[in-house]
Amino acid sequence: MNKINILTINNLHVSIDNQSIINGLNLSINEGEIHAIMGKNGSGKSTLAKVIAGHPNYKITKGDIILKGENINSLEPDERAHKGIFLGFQYPVEIPGVSNADFLRLGYNSIRKANKKTELDPLSFFDLINKKIQTVNMDSAFLNRNVNEGFSGGEKKKNEILQMSLFKSMISILDEIDSGLDIDALKSISNNINEQKNKCNALMLITHYQRLLDYIVPDYIHIMKRGQIVYTGNSTTAQRIEQHGYDFITS
Ligand code: ADP
Ligand code: MG
Repeated sequence: MNKINILTINNLHVSIDNQSIINGLNLSINEGEIHAIMGKNGSGKSTLAKVIAGHPNYKITKGDIILKGENINSLEPDERAHKGIFLGFQYPVEIPGVSNADFLRLGYNSIRKANKKTELDPLSFFDLINKKIQTVNMDSAFLNRNVNEGFSGGEKKKNEILQMSLFKSMISILDEIDSGLDIDALKSISNNINEQKNKCNALMLITHYQRLLDYIVPDYIHIMKRGQIVYTGNSTTAQRIEQHGYDFITS
């Protein structure tokens, strides 16, 4: 049976300040799949994630990003989010003066509104988010604090997963969700991500350590080098990278 495609990237070239960072990248992600993107620091992983999400600083000079058959090259970040793309940042930003609960509710309701669903009032939303926050093992006190302000590295990452579980996006891109986590937090976050995975959505995991992929087993592992995917393997590729290094695999 043919799987339904969620995201296709064709011959993508991206630059910033006239410096080329993504250089002819191809990738295709179907429903139900988990794709890991690995590669050395500076190979372009975060840039790829940000370009898919629509970061305005990066310019697509060539190629296409296609979400469920629609070219989204020129869509704004919020339009892409409404259509089902979620990006969990490598370095989540702090937003002083905005409570986490308000931020999550506005995000949630803007997606509901764009998809012609009724928005939730603050009280109903509070019930929902209080249940959700327990599933990521966060204390509900984090709802009243400003977004990510003074959160530890691990708490910021949990907050990204809380957003992911709330937005139920078609494709979630998680950029180094494992960085800054101790082993217990890593296991707990991985469990939560696995629970959110189903046969209709897809996951793109960016990491350069094998250990995340011990807990969330990918269907494919892609290795990036100088802004291209230079190798695609299965879940066993991660162990080979751990043993031999990237150069052994990609040379
Ligand atoms: P990775 O996530 O794989 O470590 P990045 O996508 O963050 O790699 O970076 C890829 C390359 O692009 C690096 O050489 C980085 O310095 C450069 N780059 C990324 N963003 C910018 C930017 N905003 N300005 C200048 N160079 C950038
Ligand atoms: Mg990065």
